Amino acid sequence: MKRYTCSGCSLLCDDIMIRSDGLFIDEVIGACLKGKERFDRVTAKNRIISPLIRKDNELKKISWEEAINETVKIVKNASNPLLYGFSNSSCEAQAKGIELAKTINGFIDSNASICQGKVLGIAKEFGINLTTITELINKADLLILWGANPAETIPRLLNKTLFSRGKFRMTGREIKTLVIIDPVKSASFNVMGVRDIALRIKPGSDIELVRALKEECCQSDSIPSEGVAGIDQEDLKRILLHIMGTENGVIFLGQGILKSDKNNQFIREILEFIQLINSKQEKGRMSLIMMGGHYNMAGFDHVALSLAGKIGGLQFKDQKLVDSNHTLVSKINTNDFDYSIIVGTDPISHLPYSLSSKLAKKPIILIDNQMTATAKIADIILPTAITGIECEGLAFRLDQVPIQLEKIVNPPSNLTSDAKLLNKIISKLANGGM
Ligand code: SF4
Repeated sequence: MKRYTCSGCSLLCDDIMIRSDGLFIDEVIGACLKGKERFDRVTAKNRIISPLIRKDNELKKISWEEAINETVKIVKNASNPLLYGFSNSSCEAQAKGIELAKTINGFIDSNASICQGKVLGIAKEFGINLTTITELINKADLLILWGANPAETIPRLLNKTLFSRGKFRMTGREIKTLVIIDPVKSASFNVMGVRDIALRIKPGSDIELVRALKEECCQSDSIPSEGVAGIDQEDLKRILLHIMGTENGVIFLGQGILKSDKNNQFIREILEFIQLINSKQEKGRMSLIMMGGHYNMAGFDHVALSLAGKIGGLQFKDQKLVDSNHTLVSKINTNDFDYSIIVGTDPISHLPYSLSSKLAKKPIILIDNQMTATAKIADIILPTAITGIECEGLAFRLDQVPIQLEKIVNPPSNLTSDAKLLNKIISKLANGGM
């Protein structure tokens, strides 16, 4: 058996033991159910292993040569492409995606732009205190889940950070306090102990809550007796006591809060709040971790920043990066694209109907390895190998630490990686599509 990293989610657990002969995965030990599903994807029923094209409203198998030619034909007959996805792809594929966007004068963005990328964008104004999973395993004493439900989205996160015994403290769960701020009682509430704090917030009033906490930090007894955002005055004072007394605390911002924060006001407030705590704290510190779900959601921001000096929403014109205030949402909303290239994601399922219906009206070239709602309406599907199982690649863990993913088995039908496939399209275009 050999130790591998799981690419089932952004925690990228590097302690999975796998027995394999290089052709099949015989045994997986240590992965959660979500991770096990990721490894089972190799032989899943909805796996796509041949390129497909839509003819007479049906997806039909074609040869790779035909598939690449048809892809190039769509690219050459249009002028305003939208490239989206990439959070389920390696950093190498993300870099190739940006190169392709530059070659075809497109707009490129990743799933992070509607999730954790928003935090990094705002962090330019306020700064940000990040931390690592290792630091939390060894030192955390306060974990706040804000709109986050790791028990279902990142299943082993709490095992590692809440139930772990710190190397330097020699203490574990007994000194760790868990605070959950959520309007719904998610599965993560089930791990709470007697000294933990559950705050069932009134839906949509997170900004109100963070403002009240900020004010109480500066001027005690400012919380009204009836409480704030549906939360009791006493509970709010209790949580502030924990926050101001923590030696190593972390706020996990979940997708629930990140996706719903339309004008990024909550993100601004929470970043300011963390700065405020750290300026007032004498011995401890508070940090932030964004809980992107896809295994390399953090990667695109790093790759885009290093290649283009900007974390997302890159618009190219005349093979140069130009200023653009467009986001993925505004691009689709204003119909400012004439076809899309989607990589490793399923926007037809995860975007609101107002956007997915507009996306569906224009040709879609999909690079993915499974039959999804997007695959069912795509015009061309180019299947690829599964990164971290059938090909290697670099990914950034949710705490922004780079992790190398390895190949375990050979892909079926000699499928290539996302990066190599994107490179093939770029080379074909460079040769005039011949
Ligand atoms: S928590 Fe995520 S990375 Fe870890 S085993 Fe589960 S799916 Fe894989």
